[in-house]
Amino acid sequence: MKPGDFGCVVLDLDGTLYHAGKPLPGAAEAVARLRAAGLPVRFLTNTFSTPPEAVEARLRGFGLEVRSGELFTPHRAIAAHLGERLAAKPALRVHAFLNDATRAFMDYLPATVEEAPDLLLVGDADERWSYGALDRLLGFLLGGAEFVASSPATTFVGRDGRPHLDTGALVALLEAASGKRARAMGKPSPELSRLVARGAGVPEESLLFVGDDPAVDMAAARAVGARSILVETGKGAAAPRIPPPDAVIPSLAALPAFLGLA
Ligand SMILES: [Mg+2]
Repeated sequence: MKPGDFGCVVLDLDGTLYHAGKPLPGAAEAVARLRAAGLPVRFLTNTFSTPPEAVEARLRGFGLEVRSGELFTPHRAIAAHLGERLAAKPALRVHAFLNDATRAFMDYLPATVEEAPDLLLVGDADERWSYGALDRLLGFLLGGAEFVASSPATTFVGRDGRPHLDTGALVALLEAASGKRARAMGKPSPELSRLVARGAGVPEESLLFVGDDPAVDMAAARAVGARSILVETGKGAAAPRIPPPDAVIPSLAALPAFLGLA
């Protein structure tokens, strides 16, 4: 692989740039080296319950340079999708099933309707899960609502180091019951990757995904016909290599040399 093969480097965050609350050694320098070589850099994460501005601030706190518009979270894809739907139908009826803390900073969302929505958005809702609440969402879907989800991920690893139920598990339950497929906006769905490519003005297949989780980062690359590199930091050393990456490097610090930039 060489830099000219790629239009843009798409970096995963947790496990690639930082891990367990600390920046990974050499990550900030590697990002700076990519930039110096003229390679556009974007940051791609499924983080949904933290405002994007706070994610940017966290990265800057780790010594990483993040420029305006370089961070992509499911909020970008949902806002873009809602923008299209609202342009076509200004009175679009939206029901958002979210926890209050997340809903509070999603200022791009129209007011939630409680009856007959045109679009159901499901995101991090944690304590709101209950039989009654989910049964109501099923009714919305069977009534014709479009199904949009923040992320397809079924589990996340908590601070206790164990997997816990994530939004994708709730989405899978509703898909099974309704027979409808959700349009999921996080990795590995292609929605965010397409926005990245469009914003950078490059073809989707010229993106280079770098991440620590094959099931998410390599799958995201595959979904748009792009290539990927696995880093052996974070989950990267232990995770099953399915789908397989195009290359494996010890950490992001090794990427510039791998691309012949060092
Ligand atoms: Mg990761």
